[in-house]
Amino acid sequence: MKPQDLVRPEILALKAYPVASAGGMVKLDAMENPYTLPDEVRREFAAVLARVDVNRYPTPSPQELRDAIRRRMGVPADMEILLGNGSDELIQILITALARPGAAMMYPSPTFVMYSMGATFSGMRAVPVPLREDFSLDADAFIARMEAEKPALVFIAYPNNPTGVLYPEADVVRIIRACKGLVVLDEAYHVFAGKSFLPRLAQFENLVVIRTVSKLGLAGIRLGYLVGRPEWVAELDKVRPPYNVSVLTQAAALFMLERLDVLEEQAARIRNDRSTLRASLQALKGVTVYPSEANFFLIRVPDADRTYQALKQQNVLVRNLNPGIRGCLRVTVGTPDENRILVSALREALS
Ligand code: PMP
Repeated sequence: MKPQDLVRPEILALKAYPVASAGGMVKLDAMENPYTLPDEVRREFAAVLARVDVNRYPTPSPQELRDAIRRRMGVPADMEILLGNGSDELIQILITALARPGAAMMYPSPTFVMYSMGATFSGMRAVPVPLREDFSLDADAFIARMEAEKPALVFIAYPNNPTGVLYPEADVVRIIRACKGLVVLDEAYHVFAGKSFLPRLAQFENLVVIRTVSKLGLAGIRLGYLVGRPEWVAELDKVRPPYNVSVLTQAAALFMLERLDVLEEQAARIRNDRSTLRASLQALKGVTVYPSEANFFLIRVPDADRTYQALKQQNVLVRNLNPGIRGCLRVTVGTPDENRILVSALREALS
């Protein structure tokens, strides 16, 4: 007996989410915060983790952590919070809950690949709606398509990955209002965009917001949170695996939420360095830089495969999106040193 005889054909046809090995490289492929924790914070962190009882299952849906997120992230009092093992898991929970037979999912495309992968896992019909040539959103076209497809679920990454574009708030509002299904705003990069729908959640019955602590500097602990009306969260919570947020993640998140200023200061540095990097990239001949409100840039180069390989040979790892997004690479904003290395390696690669 072979897997090919038993595994669903749509799973056999998938490629696993690509994660390149990055040992010893300047790692600018995954939109991580490049800064580690200050030594003193690390020591306290170690002591906190040492006190965790790892023999016990975690508290499911821990109140203390949800309260800390509510306080520190400005979650409105009338909204509920659902925790996930990264926002990846929240995406999967949403899809699993809404994938009635024949139901459709829509999203502007290109976007975060886990939406369409999740649709495949759950047998949802995925309807990607192309962005314009410059990766801006054609809200009229999207709304017209929604009227035809009647999606149960719409994902909008705000700002979008892998383009970095933040769609106009008014366009997003029009889409939410026109949608007869649930709209999920994925605010993974909100710390870099300074825009959020959290304060507006009460205005819409069909909206939930998902976020992650990953881009803030805690990608390794795997914690995402969904914010929405209690009646939505109550249903989604039934799909959540009972012990999805580990005791170590809970302790680490509680500890870091008390020291959020450390991470926010790092994010502010990254936002500053983003402007410098944008200018340096724009100054390179043959490079088109798309506007980004996130901690990365989508750039177009004459030969993306060649440039990607040439960067790799210079020990710089970025994300190659060619041929899916023709000629494009995605580069994360790193430390000022890393950004300088990237720019000079790119200059070399393009020469
Ligand atoms: N949403 C978007 C738009 C992302 O880019 C990512 C990560 N690249 C995620 C969700 C998943 O984040 P995590 O699982 O680390 O919370």
